[in-house]
Amino acid sequence: MDNKFPGKDISEEDLKNKFPLVAKKNKKHKSKFTIAGVEFGGEIIPTFAGPNMVESRELIMDIAKNIKKNNCHFLRGGAFKPLTFPYRSKKYNETREMGIKWLSEAKSKYNIPIITEVMEEKFLPLVCEVADIIQIGSRNMQNYPFLIACAKTNKPLMLKRHYGSSLRDWLGAAEYILKNGNKKLILCERGVVAPHTHKITSRFLIDLQVVPAAQDITHLPIIVDPSHATFWRPWVKSMALASVAAGADGIMVEVHPYPNKAFVDPLQPINYKELKDLMNSMNKVAKASWSRKIY
Ligand code: PEP
Ligand code: MN
Repeated sequence: MDNKFPGKDISEEDLKNKFPLVAKKNKKHKSKFTIAGVEFGGEIIPTFAGPNMVESRELIMDIAKNIKKNNCHFLRGGAFKPLTFPYRSKKYNETREMGIKWLSEAKSKYNIPIITEVMEEKFLPLVCEVADIIQIGSRNMQNYPFLIACAKTNKPLMLKRHYGSSLRDWLGAAEYILKNGNKKLILCERGVVAPHTHKITSRFLIDLQVVPAAQDITHLPIIVDPSHATFWRPWVKSMALASVAAGADGIMVEVHPYPNKAFVDPLQPINYKELKDLMNSMNKVAKASWSRKIY
């Protein structure tokens, strides 16, 4: 990396003094680590799939079975959800402790590791019993005491980018985690708010350029979540394939058997048939572009 990095938002001085642990020591260095038997930063590009919300036991069991059949590596799903508005009928509300219990059942029955979000420090012990990766949601990206608490669990973590954050601030947040002794950290791009996003596309704009940009600067794996970024099911495939082509080290995608009936963000999950097609297509792109594979 040199000072000619476009935008000059990140300087040599940042690499040395602001986020030295996150920064790459040299161009070749890239973190490789294994979580629940799945290697990150290696030949395989891991996939995280599942519903936005863990809605019911029946739903999570069915999805776990199907994503496993489609060679996805991790089951995603939130039992604790950062819901944008506080008014919801009880039926559609977070499933919290029950949801964590259902994730645990799905994990044992289908032998698939779990990634799930935590928003409050007090729930870390409970979620750590079940989760293989703790998801730190975009809204908590700069909640520094919470980042430190997550780091200290020693569980692998995934840090979603805040939708208004620069790469520099995101890497600053990542540094808090590494500084507190946790090395198994994955970054996740999930779309940013850009000027006029509402006029040109949708709620968020997927920042695919951040993939090669992050890989120039940090050794940490970076994955992309095209479901939150597009917010719109018909575009998920294109953007997932583009993310693989951009060099993403993993893909997180929302899946639901009946997308229109999803309790949260029903416009964004793909169905099982679409997942099958997506996995197959991503595999081809991974092979053609990077000699890597999805499964
Ligand atoms: C999610 O992945 O369920 C989620 C809430 O994502 P984000 O924090 O990116 O909005
Ligand atoms: Mn969401």
